[in-house]
Amino acid sequence: MVPESPVVPKATVILADGRELFYFGQSAQWAAGFPDLRPPDRVEALSVIRYDQLRGEWVIIARHRQDRTYLPPADHCPFDPSAPGRLTEIPAPHYEVAVFENRFPSVAGIGDDSADGTDPRPTGPADLHLTRPGTGRCEVVCFSEDHSGSFADLTPAQAAVVMAAWTDRSAALAARAGVEQVYCFENRGREIGVTLTHPHGQIYAYPFVTPRTARMLAMAGQYHSETGRNLFDDVVEAELSDPVRVVLAGEHWVGFVPYAAHWPYEVHLYPRRRVPDLQALTTAERDEFCVMYLDLLRRFDRLFGIPAPYISAWHQAPVRAGREQFALHLELFTIRRGPDKLKYLAGSESGMGAFTSDIAPEAAAAALRGERTT
Ligand SMILES: [Zn+2]
Repeated sequence: MVPESPVVPKATVILADGRELFYFGQSAQWAAGFPDLRPPDRVEALSVIRYDQLRGEWVIIARHRQDRTYLPPADHCPFDPSAPGRLTEIPAPHYEVAVFENRFPSVAGIGDDSADGTDPRPTGPADLHLTRPGTGRCEVVCFSEDHSGSFADLTPAQAAVVMAAWTDRSAALAARAGVEQVYCFENRGREIGVTLTHPHGQIYAYPFVTPRTARMLAMAGQYHSETGRNLFDDVVEAELSDPVRVVLAGEHWVGFVPYAAHWPYEVHLYPRRRVPDLQALTTAERDEFCVMYLDLLRRFDRLFGIPAPYISAWHQAPVRAGREQFALHLELFTIRRGPDKLKYLAGSESGMGAFTSDIAPEAAAAALRGERTT
């Protein structure tokens, strides 16, 4: 199957401080006609990336982010459209979906394409302090101009515009020098640590393969070498053959609570056809995703009758490593385990990386299917 290009219009503008902004949707070209009238005030990104030799992980150290905007009053939201006397990050008076470079990025700038993407190994005491520039890119994705809305409030047609934006940006960022992995995600809710409540997500283009992805690729690689099979395919097939943890099953996508869920309520949404990244999806797959994802978000909000604080994470194959084994999927989880209870990452999880969940994955799946009677 050859993926068709999404036919969502896009237009680009350059903000006063030189950052790029992209409008997506039918009004994109019109919106791009409004210039940024603010004085240029660029925040200098000062990130470095250090290697933790004991964990085998890169850590981004971004000290300029300490001063970023923190829970501004609603009438100072920088993600609203601009209005006379109130200039925001988005110059147009209306927009559908807007994506722009984060003013306070964790990583920024063009990287080095000569690296081969593999992590360093210390060969002696002289290499223990490895550091590199914090290159890459961080973008903000505003899902809607409606300040008080949420992703779950979007129509499938609006969600399709977000999907087009994720896909377009993922492809563009993957093509940048030195980028090894592109990650689209949403943090929702103050309980998660969101500093701006306007419905928005983020995209990180990392100059390394993230620890989660590296671990999944190692497990899939080992499974493949031992069985000749694909681990992601077999995990999805196992869930479908005994659907006790399946929450949603469509023609193109299936959503289930994983067998060893880490979080109180957690769903992994996979396309039935294994693809490495968002670009590889067909139009039919994209369209069904939008309907199923909105359904899933609304199920999370219904669990306790209050908006669920959640993290929604797109797992895409790295730009270079492991593309033939990896399966694109979305992982959605809430930290809410009861109407007035949150799951915190305390001693076992934060100190040792050993998770304890208080809710059986099968019970979580039943609740998300709407079967709970209590
Ligand atoms: Zn807002």
